[in-house]
Amino acid sequence: MLDIKITKTTAPKKLPDKDDPLTFGTIFTDHMFMMDYKEGIGWYDARIIPYQPISLEPSAMVFHYGQEMFEGLKAYKAKDGRILLFRPDMNAKRTNRSCRRLCIPEIPEEDFIQAIKELVKIDSAWVPTREGTSLYIRPFIIATDPFLGVRPSKTYKFIIILSPVGAYYPEGINPVKIWIEDDYVRAVKGGIGEAKAGGNYVASLKAQIKAHDEGYSQVLWLDGVHRKYVEEVGSMNIFFKIDGVVVTPELSGSILPGVTRDSVITLCKSWGYKVEERLISIDEIYEAYQKGKLEEVFGTGTAAVISPVGQLRWKDHIMRIGDGNTGPLSRKLYDSLTGIQLGKLKDIFNWTV
Ligand code: PMP
Repeated sequence: MLDIKITKTTAPKKLPDKDDPLTFGTIFTDHMFMMDYKEGIGWYDARIIPYQPISLEPSAMVFHYGQEMFEGLKAYKAKDGRILLFRPDMNAKRTNRSCRRLCIPEIPEEDFIQAIKELVKIDSAWVPTREGTSLYIRPFIIATDPFLGVRPSKTYKFIIILSPVGAYYPEGINPVKIWIEDDYVRAVKGGIGEAKAGGNYVASLKAQIKAHDEGYSQVLWLDGVHRKYVEEVGSMNIFFKIDGVVVTPELSGSILPGVTRDSVITLCKSWGYKVEERLISIDEIYEAYQKGKLEEVFGTGTAAVISPVGQLRWKDHIMRIGDGNTGPLSRKLYDSLTGIQLGKLKDIFNWTV
């Protein structure tokens, strides 16, 4: 259990208007959580302080070799006023998996969750209530040794910031157009693709710009070795409904194990769907499309929850999925997940906290 020292702001910011649809990740709340690490001491000095710039040496290792990780989850306000977190234990576990891969010291799961809860409680007035909005929680760890040699840092900062957000994609739950990238790759097995590390996201930018220039909103990544197997889409995991079966890429080492992915698999199984986690080649997807068996495609992630795919572009082939509308399974998953997250539906899996 952390002993968190609290210093409240003396200059609270103006809260966003209740009717503000909000954008993603542009406004930050009044407070932040911070805790330091030093080799030999461990994590110390847990504190909640006013949201403010941080001061680091220009030589801080995070700036040079990118030793850092981050997480993302949301808090929702239920009709009865309760503030709900969705499966924060999964983010705590994934934090430590990322930390192990990136040689960053781990954080006890209960401390990670306690820090989030206390910070969200202090800034609870910032949890928005308009439909489609939530409070995005961004925990992250950075390496702070002032040192230019390549090795794991001996000092770190763990910080949590909060941002009231609206829809991640301007399209909302409307189908997006996806570009299948066959030149650039995001990550390879044995690399850091399964960790939530900034390096994976900078690796994705070039192809994302290319996709945007072509009029597509996100990139679907193929594996880096065979350039053949589907991995994930933008910052989401990807699902296909092929001839009634729900199929998603297996956790091969190069894709992020999404919390939403896990929840979608659980929900689909509970509804009686056959769910397969396995290798899926892009040729298989194209063949299913040509045979009229590619029924639905959707991305899953904390930011957008479910993001239906209306069009896939692979080389010169354009696959139009469904009739341009959100498919019935995508819709049902979106309604069920957001229903549980907002406390409107019975939480049969005990996902909310
Ligand atoms: N893949 C990547 C690369 C991501 O950044 C995310 C967002 N965290 C996801 C998948 C979806 O994960 P989650 O459902 O936990 O948000």
